[in-house]
Amino acid sequence: MYEGVVQDLIDELGRLPGVGPKSAQRIAFHILQADPTDVRRLAHALTQVKEKVRFCTVCGNVSEADLCRVCQDPRRDPSLICVVEEPKDVVAVERTREFRGRYHVLGGAISPIEGVGPDDLRIRELMQRLADGTVTELILATDPNLEGEATATYLARLLKPMGLKVTRLASGLPVGGDLEYADEVTLGRAFEGRRLLDV
Ligand SMILES: [Zn+2]
Repeated sequence: MYEGVVQDLIDELGRLPGVGPKSAQRIAFHILQADPTDVRRLAHALTQVKEKVRFCTVCGNVSEADLCRVCQDPRRDPSLICVVEEPKDVVAVERTREFRGRYHVLGGAISPIEGVGPDDLRIRELMQRLADGTVTELILATDPNLEGEATATYLARLLKPMGLKVTRLASGLPVGGDLEYADEVTLGRAFEGRRLLDV
């Protein structure tokens, strides 16, 4: 335990995902020894991101405007929607350069253990987007783990009566993992080899 503000910093850092007590301590001491200009830049980036960044009103991706970059781009195919769990998955898919459609960010995955049900995700918003008939194919690109599979199956059943083409990324992605950890080539292939979901 350290005194006052140093401990406060360690505690705050320790609340971040993936940062254990040891890492929190290491980062705190790095900041203590860093150049004041660098620390001010970090502090500025932290406050700016909360002030300026919000979520796209259509797809739920991070955005500095009402609509995100993808939703604003008229060259992106509006008939194709790739459904992902988190904004970071949009970044992962964009890196592959394989996908020219639009996105829908659910904001998580169905997880009974963590108390996340369908109503906690942006599924209602997705159904609203499908209402006008523009969208003809949905690619369910939720993570290749238990929660992601459960979410894809739930969505496929929900979408079935609408007669849309519903596909899931091809196998080959590391099972149990997170979409963002797949390399571009593997993820790109998974898009090309996507298969129809029959539920
Ligand atoms: Zn958007």
